[in-house]
Amino acid sequence: MNILDIIRNYSLKDISIAVLASHSALQILKGARDENLRTLLIVEKDRLELYEEFSNLVDKFFIVEKFRDITKIVDLLRKENAILIPHGSSVEYVGSETFLNMPIPVFGNRKLMIWESSQKLKMKLLREAGIKVPKEYSIEDEIDRPVIVKLPGAKGGKYFFITNSREEIIRRIENYVKSGIVNNIEDVLIQEYVIGVPMYFHYFYSPMFNRVEILGIDIRYETNIDGLKRFPLIDKVSVEPTFIVVGNIPVVIREKMLQIVLKYGKMFVEKSRELIPPGAIGPFCLESIVVDDNNVVVFEFSGRIVAGTNIYIGYGSPYGWLYWNEPMYMGRRICREIKIACERGIRNLELILT
Ligand code: AMP
Repeated sequence: MNILDIIRNYSLKDISIAVLASHSALQILKGARDENLRTLLIVEKDRLELYEEFSNLVDKFFIVEKFRDITKIVDLLRKENAILIPHGSSVEYVGSETFLNMPIPVFGNRKLMIWESSQKLKMKLLREAGIKVPKEYSIEDEIDRPVIVKLPGAKGGKYFFITNSREEIIRRIENYVKSGIVNNIEDVLIQEYVIGVPMYFHYFYSPMFNRVEILGIDIRYETNIDGLKRFPLIDKVSVEPTFIVVGNIPVVIREKMLQIVLKYGKMFVEKSRELIPPGAIGPFCLESIVVDDNNVVVFEFSGRIVAGTNIYIGYGSPYGWLYWNEPMYMGRRICREIKIACERGIRNLELILT
């Protein structure tokens, strides 16, 4: 599939933005509105009621039974000169094979998003980039400190657990395999549990300006781990922590630490070019634990927009203001990049789509 062949038939003056109705869709639609681009929303029937509330943001609805039916409407989307903006639900709902091969231009590097769904590959990229990561264990290793055990895919922290016992890891993973939650024991990641302050750094790599922008930071609010500190009986009742993301909170970091944040963003982009050409394009996130004022450990990345950027919809993030001197948030930033590329011509569009 050659994306260039598809966009050659596009009218660059009449591009539209297509998105699956989930995750950060509202933000992307609003961003397209702010940049005067047309919007297409692909929506599953049972979500329609919610998204119709925001029909002021949508030029056309495409109603599907399941998101993976997007393959049945690609011709219609292409007639609209559509560029699909992927988000955290895209690979998970559409399926990686379908996502990789959809004959429609996608903003960003699709392959990076596939790497992201493998716990092992994603840590390899971070490690080889020279970014500080938590220690990793194999199932044969002796466990010498608390670890967090993670399952593959963007499951939002579901089924993760913390332990310092190798026996417990083996027992629980075997149960996951038996009940079909995990296909293969090798897919599970056993990672040092780092104690500090979690911060999720939102970046945008811009091929149009050839720079990495720090567009915002959030903290995830997770149940029940974030509820436990409000539970007075914690010493008396044993409760297993869980890590299911339910919301996000804005945060800024001490200014001197922006240095290490920016450095990590640049290292990430550079290594991604070598391992997964053409490398990171547009939004990505380094999910991190800040240990002290010069020590940031990154425990995973997202190779596309993260839902934590939703906290800045409309009014922009503090850092967005510094670069743009106007309300700039991730959904809008994506659409701004597309708009500039369209204005500069097809060769530029090629730099931001795969
Ligand atoms: P993830 O799906 O990898 O983002 O993990 C879900 C949640 O588990 C994170 O938001 C953190 O709260 C926590 N977490 C994941 N990895 C680590 C780690 N290595 N050390 C401490 N906390 C972690």
